[in-house]
Amino acid sequence: MHVTHEPRDVEQVATLGPDPLDPAFTVDRLAELLSDRNQQLKGLLRDQRRVAGIGNAYSDEILHAARMSPFTRAGSLDHQGVQRLHTALHDVLRAAVDEAAGRPAAQLKDAKLRAMRVHGRTGEPCPVCGDTVREVSFADSSLQYCHTCQTGGRALADRRMSRLLR
Ligand SMILES: [Zn+2]
Repeated sequence: MHVTHEPRDVEQVATLGPDPLDPAFTVDRLAELLSDRNQQLKGLLRDQRRVAGIGNAYSDEILHAARMSPFTRAGSLDHQGVQRLHTALHDVLRAAVDEAAGRPAAQLKDAKLRAMRVHGRTGEPCPVCGDTVREVSFADSSLQYCHTCQTGGRALADRRMSRLLR
């Protein structure tokens, strides 16, 4: 039997969500993706089937730029909120692409980390408001956020702890 890898590759591509820097990724398209979803924004942004190409680091950065809690339910955003998230998505990813342009591969990781405002910066001052960047730990990862910029001053529960306490 003759087997190639092509069908599987095609399938993987087909299950990817839209590229957020594609001009077709409009505010309306994002609104569609978010509507009626109970998923938290942090999880949704990282979900490659919803939006392609955003990992743990850039989802932290996008939510900080949008001034939104990572735990906000996607479906709860009003139109203004969707617009703000769309702008943040675009600005953060565009800046990342510009930052990477023309750099040798060996410098990319450093440049990426230097450009981060909250991701990987637990305990450092938020570059927007000066408050301390906080962290929420999960079993296999963590997220960083600024509680003045993103959660109205409320500290988010540490999910790893909550699970133990439940
Ligand atoms: Zn802040």
